[in-house]
Amino acid sequence: MAEREELTWELFGSASRELARMIADSGYEPDLILSIARGGLFVAGALGYALDVKNLHVMNVEFYTGVDQRLDLPVVLPPVPNAVDLAGAKVLVADDVADTGATLKLVRDFCAEHVAEVRCAVVYEKPHSKVSCEYVWRRTDKWINFAWSAQPPVVQRAGQVLDA
Ligand code: 5GP
Repeated sequence: MAEREELTWELFGSASRELARMIADSGYEPDLILSIARGGLFVAGALGYALDVKNLHVMNVEFYTGVDQRLDLPVVLPPVPNAVDLAGAKVLVADDVADTGATLKLVRDFCAEHVAEVRCAVVYEKPHSKVSCEYVWRRTDKWINFAWSAQPPVVQRAGQVLDA
């Protein structure tokens, strides 16, 4: 059995369409999509087109520093979404994976204070996630190689250590 789950660009194309179909079939019509950067940006973009939602927002959360290597807590990096932009909206939070679910919980709790309704859509959800997402394409307990982060950066930026 493969050690890792592989989400190629091609598979992501059909996964995101199927995820959008689940959301549409459920009758949920989000006013805006809130992506969790960076992996959630791809998901949010694909869902935005498939669901015909143009209002996309970004929340930048850092938690993982490598394969199964995490900070103690997820950290929100600036810019933080403007609560006024989210006020009273039906929000769809989009991310690549709910692993521990700590990142999605943080974002969902942030939204709950401001919005009318919040639901979460992920490509993958792991069995131990503390958040149960309303829309999940596939479940796995393996480490996932995503097409967007499977290869190392093409440049090394000053002050950053690659493959740390
Ligand atoms: P969580 O807060 O649910 O533990 O993890 C959230 C973030 O960690 C994901 O959005 C993703 O960026 C990263 N992450 C967690 N599990 C995996 C994984 O299996 N593969 C990859 N590539 N990233 C992961």
